[in-house]
Amino acid sequence: MKALFVVCDGMADRPVRELGRRTPLQVAETPNMDALAGRGITGIVDPVAPGVPPGSDVANMALLGYDPYEHYTGRGGLEALGAGLDLGPEDVAFRCNFATVGPSGLIVDRRAGRIRSEHAAELAEALGPVARDVGSKFNVVVELVPTVEHRAVVVLRGEGLSRAVSDTDPGEIGRPIVECRPLDNSPEARRTAEIVNALSRAFREALEAHPLNKELPKPANAILFRGAGIRPRLRTLRELYGIRGSCISAVPLVRGVCRAAGLRPLDVPGATGSYDTDLHAKFSWAVRELEGGTDFVFLHVKATDLASHDHAVGKKVELIERIDEALGHALGALDLDSDTYVLITADHTTSLRTGKHEGDPVPVVLAGPEVRPDGVEKFDEVSCATGGLGRLRGKDLMPILMNLLGRVGKFGF
Ligand SMILES: [Zn+2]
Repeated sequence: MKALFVVCDGMADRPVRELGRRTPLQVAETPNMDALAGRGITGIVDPVAPGVPPGSDVANMALLGYDPYEHYTGRGGLEALGAGLDLGPEDVAFRCNFATVGPSGLIVDRRAGRIRSEHAAELAEALGPVARDVGSKFNVVVELVPTVEHRAVVVLRGEGLSRAVSDTDPGEIGRPIVECRPLDNSPEARRTAEIVNALSRAFREALEAHPLNKELPKPANAILFRGAGIRPRLRTLRELYGIRGSCISAVPLVRGVCRAAGLRPLDVPGATGSYDTDLHAKFSWAVRELEGGTDFVFLHVKATDLASHDHAVGKKVELIERIDEALGHALGALDLDSDTYVLITADHTTSLRTGKHEGDPVPVVLAGPEVRPDGVEKFDEVSCATGGLGRLRGKDLMPILMNLLGRVGKFGF
């Protein structure tokens, strides 16, 4: 028995005025998702808790079966794992931005004009010796790894560190870089804040002097630190259920969550994490994985969430239809009558109107050989609310799915 677990980021929505007070899922033509609803069991899910708008990190953690209130240890650690870095239990990681600071000392662009990745890599290379120098003063190893465009990860490796420190990123332009502060009274937090401030100053100085920055229209002359985190200590899905799994996502944060759960991230060509992503490639890779002996594939699609953040109503409907079409191809190659379960859900509601994550529940459908159907024929927020799974929390989905796969032991005698 094997399973395909599909998460469409922010796909769930509230009724939208432009759509006649219906949700994008209600409006979109989704014959394949609807067919799954018809033969499977449906429900609605509070990813984290009722009324709590979750970040994608905690939401995906919950969908993989982990209680984020117990296990979440900050964004930075997940971001570092997602960038392919390995983290020791004590290492503290930050998600960082190259940014532009104006002559007056105020931030004029938090993304340094979305600096090109190769330029960021060149600057990061030049910061290597600076990081080593500051690190040696504090007896820590500092790693700065650029990821995509203005984004980077900084890892502090050593003893006596803490993730209880504040961001240096003020979160908006027109303000100066903020001093990093300890968020508790521990010597570890004080020491970590001191290291971050020393790095922030040294990076600023070195970047200001770098020749490339004389040419860039928006010089990347500062590094902003935020989201201090450590690696979450999770028992892997293999330890919990004895399954071998992989994940397909172009979003480093989601890949990081999956890695923490012991899933192997796959690099699918054409998977971009954006509107232009190759959905067919993602789904056909998932099918190939399952055919090749992988027990569990976690497939994440980001673009639906972007459409809501961009308030792009038509785009969101179109994306849902494109996902449904790619799903249809995959379903043609999977055997839901004998050996495969398919689950589809969203990691949270992202409202087209507010452009933000909201706390409304998301629909879920689960279909496969021994699922008890429930009479729901359509996959959307409203139809699924009457389904046989009722209303669950995100962390409940994995045990239900794993039980169907024969992977959950009995509780009690
Ligand atoms: Zn999300």
